[in-house]
Amino acid sequence: MNEDSCFWWELLAWYSNNGRHHFPWRNTKDPYRILLTEFLLQQTHVRKVEEVYEQILFKYPDLNELARANIEIVEEIIAPIGLRYRAQRLINTAGIISTQHNGKVPNDYKELIKLPGVGDYIANAVLCYAYDHPVVPIDTNVIRLFTRYFGYTSNNPRPRMDKELASKIRAHFEVMKSTREANLAVLDFAGAVCTARNPEHLLCPLSRHCKYFNS
Ligand code: SF4
Repeated sequence: MNEDSCFWWELLAWYSNNGRHHFPWRNTKDPYRILLTEFLLQQTHVRKVEEVYEQILFKYPDLNELARANIEIVEEIIAPIGLRYRAQRLINTAGIISTQHNGKVPNDYKELIKLPGVGDYIANAVLCYAYDHPVVPIDTNVIRLFTRYFGYTSNNPRPRMDKELASKIRAHFEVMKSTREANLAVLDFAGAVCTARNPEHLLCPLSRHCKYFNS
């Protein structure tokens, strides 16, 4: 087994038993729901997001309704998870999609990143989780797992902006049949085992071949 095969084999085995499959946004490909999820998950612990997600969808089941929402009501719903400015961005983005894209979340990277509050990560997440594109959203969690396991380094003070590192990471996904499943497995594993502080090295199923652990 080569390095990639070992990594994915062990990671997917862990994911099938421990993945956070129960989150409601994991069981939909509705682009509105996926976009909403990614807005809410920004810099926010996933555990707290579920209730806010359900409340927004209950009040605004359709993107066009969110486009006409009252800012104060949306701010109030978002308040428990912080970063209230997301309320305005959500409404603005929904408004642009409603008026300029016939209410359909764009299935196109260049169009997505023009939307307020949508950057590279959210655009790729929407393309992957809603439209099944084989793309990889890269954030600090993804970078942490790959740099530790494969021993990559970055000279960029902001590794998220390191394009060379991003393309090395993306290359590992090319062997995977489902990029969606691979992305979710990485996300869950980096959030539960290979965490920023106190990673669970001794319980980690990847430790045998992990460069960081064995160095
Ligand atoms: S052994 Fe430690 S550093 Fe390596 S993947 Fe596992 S938790 Fe992360």
